[in-house]
Amino acid sequence: METGALQRALRREWVNQHREARDEIIRKYARLYPSGKTMLCQRSMKEEALGVTRLVGKIIFDTEEAALACAEELRGLYDGEGPKYTYECHRSKRGHVHLTSMKQRRRS
Ligand SMILES: [Zn+2]
Repeated sequence: METGALQRALRREWVNQHREARDEIIRKYARLYPSGKTMLCQRSMKEEALGVTRLVGKIIFDTEEAALACAEELRGLYDGEGPKYTYECHRSKRGHVHLTSMKQRRRS
């Protein structure tokens, strides 16, 4: 196997092994359904009608603090890698927070 492919295979293996730990961290901080399942961002009815696909399925956090605490724990798990920034999403009525790897300008 060439080096790149081997590294990718090892990486995948490692990610699989850490999936459970990752899910546990996320469940601790994210907004959950009563069933305990992690809540993911969905399109609004208007977006649905427009065929918007952008940023669907992102994990929902109630507060910036929760999102940042989650990101910090994930970075501990992933050796410093992972999302570092948060941004507010206004898809739900009271709004919520997502994590992102890219720094975004705050819109006011
Ligand atoms: Zn959202």
